[in-house]
Formats: sequence, C-alpha cells, structure tokens
Amino acid sequence: MARFIDRVTLHVSAGDGGHGCNSIRREKFVPLGGPDGGNGGHGGDVKLVVDHQVHTLLDFHYSPHVRAQKGESGQGGNKHGARGEDLILKVPNGTVVTTPEGKLIADLIGDGIELTIARGGRGGLGNASLVTRNRRAPGFALLGEPGETCDVILELKSVADVGLVGYPSAGKSSLISVLSAAKPKIAEYPFTTLQPNLGVVTAGDTTYTVADVPGLIPGAAEGRGLGLDFLRHIERTAVLVHVVDCATLESQRDPVTDVDTLEAELDAYQPELETDTGLGDLKDRPRIIVLNKIDVPEARELAEFVKPEFEKRGWPVYLISAVTREGLKELSFALAEAVEKYRKDNPIEETRRVIIRPEARYEEEFTVAPDPRLENGFIVKGAKPELWIKQTVFDNDEAVGYLADRLARLGVEKALFEAGAEPGCTVTIGDVCFDWDPDTLAGGDDIPTARGTDPRLETNTRVSAKERRHAKRIRHGLADEDSDMYDESTW
Ligand code: GDP
Ligand code: MG
Repeated sequence: MARFIDRVTLHVSAGDGGHGCNSIRREKFVPLGGPDGGNGGHGGDVKLVVDHQVHTLLDFHYSPHVRAQKGESGQGGNKHGARGEDLILKVPNGTVVTTPEGKLIADLIGDGIELTIARGGRGGLGNASLVTRNRRAPGFALLGEPGETCDVILELKSVADVGLVGYPSAGKSSLISVLSAAKPKIAEYPFTTLQPNLGVVTAGDTTYTVADVPGLIPGAAEGRGLGLDFLRHIERTAVLVHVVDCATLESQRDPVTDVDTLEAELDAYQPELETDTGLGDLKDRPRIIVLNKIDVPEARELAEFVKPEFEKRGWPVYLISAVTREGLKELSFALAEAVEKYRKDNPIEETRRVIIRPEARYEEEFTVAPDPRLENGFIVKGAKPELWIKQTVFDNDEAVGYLADRLARLGVEKALFEAGAEPGCTVTIGDVCFDWDPDTLAGGDDIPTARGTDPRLETNTRVSAKERRHAKRIRHGLADEDSDMYDESTW
C-alpha cells in the first residue's frame, strides 16, 4: 500500500535536565568554605509551531527522531548550568496531533500556534541550593530529571489548497505535473513518487498546492478502496476541481454522469466530528470543472457540448489539454483567484482550533501496593516519588537520606506502615529496589541528624547571607527545599 506522506509518527525526546553540582568553596585562607555547587540547567522542550511557509510533513518523514538539547550541569562557584535549547519544529497549518492510540492531542490551526509535545527535564539542585538550617553543608546534589519522551502522530489534512477529483486516468497526475513543472523551482519537491501526489504552483503573486486525490471512486464514502483516507485529505481544501476525461471510450460514462457520480460520493462523506474544523461541509466548497484531453478532436467536441450544462449549475468550466498545455495558464490563474478568495474569507486567525492540554504531570497522589513478585515486598507509584528516585545519586548516603526525608514528608513512610510493611522488606519505586529501614530513613529536617554535615567541613561552616535567607524562608514555610534558592519569584 502506498505510503502517505502526510501522516508521520514522530519519536520525541525532550532534553534531560543537567545535574546539580556537589562542590565546596575554596578560598585562600579557608581551605574548605561553604557549599557552592550550582544547579543544573533545565532541558529543552520539544515544540510544534505552525508556520504558514511550511506545506508538508516531508522533513519528519525523512527524520522522525527529534531530540531537544540537554541542560548543562551546574558547577562549583555557584555556577548554574545553561538551559538546553528548545527544539522548535515547524509544521504546516492544519496539522493534527494524536497519540499512537489515536487520541486527539491538538489540532494546530493558526500561524504561530504553538504546542509543547515534550517537556524538558528540570535541572537538579546543586548542593548550595540544598542548604537548610539543619543541613548546612550538604555533601550531595540532585541529578537532573530526564526529559519527557513520547511518540506522536502528525497528520496533515490541509494537504492542499486545491483538491483534484476525477475518475482514474482522467489526467489528474498529468495536470499536476504540467501545472507545477512550469516553474523550475517546483522540481525540487520530490513528491512525484509519493501518494497522494502534490504539486506547488505559482501563478502571479499566489503560490498554492494542488493534490491529486486518486482514491475517489464510487463507494469511497463507505470506505471502499482508499476512499476515506483520501477524502480526509480534501476536507480542508479551498476549492475542489473535477478533472473530467472527455476522451474516455467506456460506454456508460460521459462528463456529466462522471461528475454526478463523484458529487454523490462527496455528499455522502461526513467529516469526522472530533476534528471538525468548522470549515463546513465539502458540499459548500467551491467547484471548478476541468474538461481534459481536448487535444483529441472528439473530446473537444464533447467538452464544448457539455460546458453549458455545468455552467448552468454555476460552476466555472475550463477546457484544457494536459498534453498540449492548451488552456493551462487560464486555469492556473483561476485556481489562484479561488485560493486567494478562500484565504481572504477564511483568515487563519479566525478559524477554530481545538487544543487539548496534556494532563498535569505532578499530581500529589501516590499509591502503595503489595509487590506481586515478592512475598514481602511493596511497590510505590506516583509522579513525585518516581521523579525523586531519578534525581538521586544512590552511592551517596546523604543523597539517599535526603530522598528518605522527602518520601517521609510526602507520607510514603506512613503509608508503607499502614499497608503492613515491616522493616527489612523490599520496596520498589520506579526502577529502584531497596530494603526498607524506617529507623534510619524517617527523619525530616526537624529531627537533628548527622545528615547534612559534610565531614570535609569545619563545624563553623560559613554560610552566605543568601543561603541563610533561604534557610530562614524554609523555616517559616515560605519556601521548601525543592524551590530554587536563586529563583526570587518563589520567595
Ligand atoms: P490520473 O489517473 O487521473 O492521475 O490520470 P493520469 O494523469 O495518470 O493520466 C492517464 C492517462 O491519460 C495517461 O496515459 C495520460 O498520458 C493521459 N492524458 C492525461 N492528460 C491528457 C490529455 O490532455 N490529452 C491526452 N490525449 N491524454 C492525456
Ligand atoms: Mg494519477
């Protein structure tokens, strides 16, 4: 089956957050000063942005793996790591974003409309930011959070401004090639081998795309052949062109019957409600009738004979030959005019758009459940606990202690007790298993522990004014350890 150029699965990775730095200040006469490890930078997001100069999803077809930049790690001397750059992917107007399961994420309509599809991981805090009253000299830092990864499907419905419908062999492909081949720069678009065929035409000041809709045959609206797939492509075209074969020798066909048959198909097609763009039915889309193959004398005769019949219906009629190119120039300008009119009547900003926000990531909830794999084991699930696990350097006792404090504060410790956990049992959070030892784990900053005193430091650690202020705010409940000490907005 033909590959559709306008539907592509994108494998997306946002940037990982940079790691926080664990460092101790060195000064001339104070060999070991206070903690001065900077925070890691946040990883870059991956965003889709509608750009009216982009007409296809071709680029993604060739490189479907996209990745935003990582945040840099923090450094000593309170140097924070730089933020990873966002990756901005330009997509055509009308790109529909769905999950691989087919759930609609967003319908991107409007120049400049933006959607973040994967968020960069947050940078880990450096040890300078982990200072509290009871932990004046943290000897650990947090790891950066991994960036989000996901697969999304991009589908372009407004594949063309002009949709060509017509029986097989009516001359649609030929028409696209001669219309677009007239402009040398169009030759760069390698669409000819892909389905549906798409051409870019410039007539006067107007540039527009023309798509061949080869699947439209009687029965298409019921899903026969490739009908529905292709009909979907023309849902958003500005004008529909009937390409009529006036030279066919099939006995039961003539131009008027051909057009009527295809009109009945278009009538029967109902746009999908979920992604309904409010652009109206295909019924209301303007039509242009192209009577093709007039280089054949009998065809020209027939075309002239049926022309008034179509004009009676109010449809403009053009007699052309894709072979000799007769009538092509007039047709290309007529199409340009129809497209311009449509663009003027349907300004991008005013069309409706559907954007479904991704679900919030940091819910408070966590769950504790017995581990089906182990006799005496428990599994803790939840966005926060799982994130904290990823931020932890497990070969650093202090970092593990800090994790334990955070879990205890969230209530995980208590919930484990209530679920019947006993000291020594195996607890799994994310992809980490550990033996549960509530005596050394439970704590929190109100209980003085040995934690937070880097043995490398003298007892009268010099703490900067900023660090003291931060600690004070934590005491007064105005900040917590998770808030960035250097981010004034959270103070
Ligand atoms: P499609 O199936 O609608 O895409 O039709 P094609 O463009 O593939 O054309 C089908 C056949 O009709 C081909 O053999 C073309 O050479 C022929 N054809 C297309 N346009 C013309 C025309 O204007 N005059 C003549 N004589 N033949 C044409
Ligand atoms: Mg064709």
